[in-house]
Amino acid sequence: MRFSKFYAPTTKEAPKDATLPSHIFLVRGGFVEQNGAGLYSFLPLGKIMLDKISNVVRDEMNKAGALEVSFSVVTNADLWRDSGRFSVFGKELLRFKDRKENDFVISPTNEESAVAMVKNKVNSYKQLPLHLYQINTKFRDEARPRFGILRGREFVMKDGYSFHANADDLRREFDLMEATYSKIFTRLGLNFRAVEADSGAIGGSGSKEFMVLTKNGEDDILCCDSCKYAANVEAARRQPKAPYGDVPEAEPFKFHTPNTKTIKAVSELFRVSEFYTIKAVIKKAIYADNSEIIVFFVRGDDELEDTKAQNACGALELVDASEDEIKNAGIVAGFCGPVGLNAKFFIDKELKDNTQMICGANEIDYHFIGVSVSSFKDDRFKDLVAVKSGDKCPNCGGNLELSKGIEVGHIFQLGDKYSSAMNATFLDENGKAKPFMMGCYGIGVSRLIAVMIEASHDEKGCVWQKQCAPFDAMIIISNLKDEEGVKFANELYQNAINSGLNVMIDDRNERFGVKINDYELLGYPYAIVVGKSLNEGNVELITRAGLNKELIKASDALKVLKERLC
Ligand code: ATP
Ligand code: MG
Repeated sequence: MRFSKFYAPTTKEAPKDATLPSHIFLVRGGFVEQNGAGLYSFLPLGKIMLDKISNVVRDEMNKAGALEVSFSVVTNADLWRDSGRFSVFGKELLRFKDRKENDFVISPTNEESAVAMVKNKVNSYKQLPLHLYQINTKFRDEARPRFGILRGREFVMKDGYSFHANADDLRREFDLMEATYSKIFTRLGLNFRAVEADSGAIGGSGSKEFMVLTKNGEDDILCCDSCKYAANVEAARRQPKAPYGDVPEAEPFKFHTPNTKTIKAVSELFRVSEFYTIKAVIKKAIYADNSEIIVFFVRGDDELEDTKAQNACGALELVDASEDEIKNAGIVAGFCGPVGLNAKFFIDKELKDNTQMICGANEIDYHFIGVSVSSFKDDRFKDLVAVKSGDKCPNCGGNLELSKGIEVGHIFQLGDKYSSAMNATFLDENGKAKPFMMGCYGIGVSRLIAVMIEASHDEKGCVWQKQCAPFDAMIIISNLKDEEGVKFANELYQNAINSGLNVMIDDRNERFGVKINDYELLGYPYAIVVGKSLNEGNVELITRAGLNKELIKASDALKVLKERLC
């Protein structure tokens, strides 16, 4: 590719709202352009990266036996009514009417379309398994679109849907997808972890997220320092906390505790460790048609994990409750405990059967001491805590460490959630109608472009890995007036292309400084600078990672490039 014929409008201006390097460099490098909140167009460089990533994804999906399809982006709302999601999916689902007043949605995900594609056509277990996938546009009216294409409203996703005769076969496909995703992210040169995950609005059980570990990630990940266990904080487990501090042995008693509203104040007053205290976190749970105040109890030194809490009560969303709402629900803020509480509540399962605990007495200025957390029904106990750094691994007891990650893929075992709801069945070996067992598998194709930059950049621009870069190398002509240089550079360019390298030649009539700045911003793995040293038979090889510069023999340039790129 000749830069003089290419369209990459680079600029020094960073977008005003940009905080992340990937957002800044993708806009400054002319990869993408914003059209509105969370809406981006892809310029030639952005499209090259979309296609390169898609090709790696497609290649590995095809090798795993999946079949590529393309679902319509606009979906009939009736399909979403059949699955039950039309009313319960939040505002992320963009609903609209056509000229005949019929309802439609712009697909945020395509389980319904996939079920519709096989329903009444795949009728027998003999036609299973089947895995259909697409690489297509999605729209989610995200509450906070941000970070450029990392969290857009319109984005490109690879989404696959598999159909199976039984749970064992679904499990086999799930494992195959885990291996396939690992191959894909390895081919893209990324440092990733497959982590245990929450299944979110898509539902089902058994899911794993693929996280790229980067310092600017939106997700909190816990990784064990001595085994393979890794989980999103939304789903992370731990070994129950070991007691610390003296046991505050006491008979059950209601104690006067004036102005003792916080865990810290309670533990100071009674001189006990926070291990023996119970904390109340009061939330308002929002459902499709109503809302309700719910209290979540965790150990005094623990924090509530919002996603776990939301799963415990099945709410669409949890928000903070106002003082008035708390009062109207009959809850005494600062002195709220599970014993005798007249409101809906859940208790963290690690507190089950704990004795000698201290908690609010649901009366102003009073706490109970000597409490046993044993008289509550089992369904009140849920996993509610946010696992932290230093907590112990549930598998091996090693230390869990917190890091930041960006989700690039998610694989789910859906089971029969959608097939049952949409009445999509097949006949098993005994001629009995059964709903399909399903899996679904997503990869954030457009997000990956940004993730690759988050994972590899410096203060000057992108640092693409050689595994997957827009171009392998830039050949920079320092001075267009230098006829020898121009001739040599053009020959090198032609030879590089003939030997299968994907190179760009910067043959623009620009100052050398402009060209070098653009090279550093665009960040192809290597550059060959053809300049004055050609008189001595040399050119300069720049390695973008580290910006290392070396003089090499001009006659060796192609050979060296090939060696470095293999
Ligand atoms: P997140 O937690 O980041 O919102 P999600 O759980 O909603 O992700 P899935 O529904 O599993 O995501 O979608 C599959 C993949 O699509 C994700 O792993 C992610 O890489 C990508 N993705 C999801 N939402 C967006 C978005 N708003 N912009 C770009 N990519 C996205
Ligand atoms: Mg999401």
